[in-house]
Amino acid sequence: MNSLLIEPLPLETKGDQIVRSCHVIRLDNGKEIDKKTLWFQFSNTIQPPNGEDCDSYLLCILMDAMTEARAITINGSVSLSLLSNLIEYQRVWHMWRPDIYTVVDIKIKDSRKDTNKAAGAVCAFSGGADSMFTVWQHTQNKNSYRTQDIRLCSLIHGFDVPLADTAAFNAVLKRSSSVLADINIPLEAIKTNYREISKANWGFAHASALVGVLANFKHQTGTILIGSSYPYSYLHIPWGSSPITDYLLASDEFQVIHDGASYTRTEKVHAFADWQVGVNNLRVCWEGDIKDKNCGRCEKCVRTQFNFLACGRSIPNCFPENNNLIAELKKITPKHQGVLSDWQQIYDYAIAHGVNGSWQGDIKKLIRRGQPRIFSFSRSGYIRVKLRALRKRRKLKQ
Ligand SMILES: [Zn+2]
Repeated sequence: MNSLLIEPLPLETKGDQIVRSCHVIRLDNGKEIDKKTLWFQFSNTIQPPNGEDCDSYLLCILMDAMTEARAITINGSVSLSLLSNLIEYQRVWHMWRPDIYTVVDIKIKDSRKDTNKAAGAVCAFSGGADSMFTVWQHTQNKNSYRTQDIRLCSLIHGFDVPLADTAAFNAVLKRSSSVLADINIPLEAIKTNYREISKANWGFAHASALVGVLANFKHQTGTILIGSSYPYSYLHIPWGSSPITDYLLASDEFQVIHDGASYTRTEKVHAFADWQVGVNNLRVCWEGDIKDKNCGRCEKCVRTQFNFLACGRSIPNCFPENNNLIAELKKITPKHQGVLSDWQQIYDYAIAHGVNGSWQGDIKKLIRRGQPRIFSFSRSGYIRVKLRALRKRRKLKQ
């Protein structure tokens, strides 16, 4: 039987930073075949979970173990409520993608019954439209009884910006800190080598990894806010972060709230469009050579500019001036259903709100280009998924 062992390592101090880490050891029939160290590094002003606490490690490594059908053994403690949630979380992913994910056993040395949940919330802040919307809504009394007391935002070095690119990360950190200072929220950086050691599909694993990283702050704030990727009316499933699975990444010590799914992306942009500091520092692009700036030409940059145009706004100066925006639009074919639905929402919003533009016809053509062909077997097509699951089961039996 193949397995994966998580061994927590003692806390380390590096100057004014704390490093939490664990060994991740892969075993085939009891024989070690691979050993890596997963680590998180953050300011020593944050009170860390104790050294034996493996909640963060388990959350980060679970999708790897499920992909490789490895039972997990943990030489440390895990919250009982988290373990309970992860059973259901695994079942959801197995149902969505049986060709990739197997439900695996999790054996632990110690379990914990959580009793203390800290007040306040932490929000993952990348400077993109989703997190910009979430921090704006919750700090401007726009959420009624649903308002969360955001005491901290966090920027993760090692996710969108690679660990090696310190200059880009520092530039993003500086810009994001000044945006959040405008609404009196401190920003805390946290570094991790998760993406360097994980082989899991990032599109599917990003939410469990994100919660795994932010759970390091659970003694500071007991709620984690994740800005929604897709609205309830156009849910894109399977996807790493969704209202169906995000709450299953929680324990009694940290609640996870999938925030903003009752708004489309254009409605989100409209909601914070008057926040000048936010809008002028919006950063949606990871495709350009310079990681802290919007390239203005990739699909996401073009789409976000049309989010603004669809609600009758001008394009903010966080995008480079581009006289060929329509030409860029004509080159785009949506990569998957989620992106296609984003374009549909832009079109629908503009029509519903009486916003006119010659570009509407071009968006209509783009939507037509992105429609799945009737006889094609898409990547997520039912027959293809079932065949892959069958092949994987046969392989595991051998
Ligand atoms: Zn771009």
